[in-house]
Amino acid sequence: MRFTVGYAKIGTATCKYTKCKQKIAKGLVRIGKISSSPFAEGAELTHYFHVHCVFEQMKGGRASRLESLDDLEGYDSLEEEHKKQIREFFEALPPPGEGSPTKTSKKASSQKRSGEGKDNNEEDQEPSSTTNESGKKRKGKSKKQKANVDDDDD
Ligand SMILES: [Zn+2]
Repeated sequence: MRFTVGYAKIGTATCKYTKCKQKIAKGLVRIGKISSSPFAEGAELTHYFHVHCVFEQMKGGRASRLESLDDLEGYDSLEEEHKKQIREFFEALPPPGEGSPTKTSKKASSQKRSGEGKDNNEEDQEPSSTTNESGKKRKGKSKKQKANVDDDDD
């Protein structure tokens, strides 16, 4: 998902936030979500929102989030006061990942990250391989125990 920001040129666009749906007045800062059109290949649709509305929607968690202000096309060409306004909205967003209860995916991603660092690569491989071995050992033990039980029964 790409985002764009700018000033409303004519004031006929309607805010796409379901709780708002008001026209975005001419000259107001509006944020556009750019998505590919389902009707024409290669075509793009832009849905415009009031600044506070698009951040309200992102807070809800169901909308795709703006990851960084660098992803906001046109941000640099805004007037300073509007940049500040958007930055404040952006910084007020709850941290990403909150509300996703999958702890296992967090572990996996942190392991990936440590592997990506070139400097740490060699160091990281050793401890992770030992943990793997101990994991195998444990599994092997439990299997043996089961096998023993089976022997006894026979
Ligand atoms: Zn709105």
